[in-house]
Amino acid sequence: NVGNSAASRDKAFYLHPYTNLKTHETVGPLVIERGSGVHVFDDSGKSYIEGMAGLWCTSLGFGEERLVEAAARQMRKLPFYHSFGHKAHDPGIDLAEALIGMAPVPMSKVFFTSSGSEANDTVVKLVWYHNNALGRPNKKKIIARQKGYHGVTVASASLTGLPHLHRDFDLPIAGILHTDCPHFYRYGEDGETEEDFAIRMANQLEQLILAEGPDTIAAFIAEPVMGAGGVIVPPASYFDHIQPVLKRYDILFIADEVICGFGRTGSMFGSQTFNLKPDIITVAKALSSAYLPIAAVMISEPIYQTMVSQSEKIGTFGHGYTYSGHPVSAAVALETLKIYQERDIVGHVRSVAPTLQQGLRRFADHPLVGEVRGVGLIAGVEIVADKVTKAPFDPKLAIGGHVARFAQDHGLIVRAMGDTIGFCPPLVITAAELDDLVDRFGKALDATLAMVTE
Ligand code: PLP
Repeated sequence: NVGNSAASRDKAFYLHPYTNLKTHETVGPLVIERGSGVHVFDDSGKSYIEGMAGLWCTSLGFGEERLVEAAARQMRKLPFYHSFGHKAHDPGIDLAEALIGMAPVPMSKVFFTSSGSEANDTVVKLVWYHNNALGRPNKKKIIARQKGYHGVTVASASLTGLPHLHRDFDLPIAGILHTDCPHFYRYGEDGETEEDFAIRMANQLEQLILAEGPDTIAAFIAEPVMGAGGVIVPPASYFDHIQPVLKRYDILFIADEVICGFGRTGSMFGSQTFNLKPDIITVAKALSSAYLPIAAVMISEPIYQTMVSQSEKIGTFGHGYTYSGHPVSAAVALETLKIYQERDIVGHVRSVAPTLQQGLRRFADHPLVGEVRGVGLIAGVEIVADKVTKAPFDPKLAIGGHVARFAQDHGLIVRAMGDTIGFCPPLVITAAELDDLVDRFGKALDATLAMVTE
């Protein structure tokens, strides 16, 4: 007998993505019924500040009527069409033009997918195809980074540098390698400055390239700020040291802007915040403020020229999805980009970001806090058992989960990534709402401290 409540039917029928099933059977779901602005409401009517914009994505918050209208208009006019084999539709063309117009470095063409994972999967194939087209079929390996997150399909999960996303699936696939994570707090050595550390990271990348053979390495992929790996902001000069290494060995640079794109770090793209000059860019999430699924891959003119000039010789790029450039998703994305421009979303992020960043840094002295890090409207607070030695809590305690649960009790949704608590609120959040978020988080920290010192 399943019962009628949403919670009991959820447990009876719903297989949740990326969820500990045993725990779920005990705790059950938090059923979210509606959203308004930066708040969501559960089925008992309790409200929460959505401190993670869902999954780093609802940048315009909840209830943005213009996006609803854009979807309805497009559904009435043309609910679906595809772009295989020379077919096209206006929303797809308009969105491609808009993205090329705003790209952080000159880009040439846009390929659409429905998710960030599919976008990064597409990139793997594009890179392979590109090097086949150039007549160098052995230059195929792709270097990603430990703790990087690029998705969960077989190829994108391989790029992801989190062991628990590989362990049970025989991943990564052959030809995908991982270099070091540029997290100074965790991996900086005694006496090393951040600058020394950044140089060491670039040297280690170069060592890996030389050990594998530069003629076998096609591309390097990185998020400007690592998100799901624990909100890891690289040292200021990290990418300045990494990029010349890539150039030296003719290695393409792929920027995964799935989280950082569209204002998150205080520039339209994370590539601008960290001075990246990528050859390929992937975007998703905030592209449509997550109101409908859509993602994109932007490629540079030289890559496109190689593809087009070689397509006769090696054949059509045999890749595309039914929903590549879905017209309703594209129309919603286009409206989202218009709203970002009209409301100067980047200016807004810059004006309120200090309230989040300085607010959270108030907890730097809290007995449980090892590091507070972040830029723009993305931040992470790493919980430690010992502030001096940086020793973590016993993983069995799952301390991050406790902090997130106490935050939820105080009406704040945040995300525990191991022992780091992530913050990535809707970009439209006000300074007063950020103060509220920080206060609620403080209460969650204190409740956690009371629990561990009990
Ligand atoms: N890349 C980054 C940086 C992400 O954060 C994510 C998702 O969180 C992805 C790729 C995968 O996107 P999706 O979940 O839409 O497949």
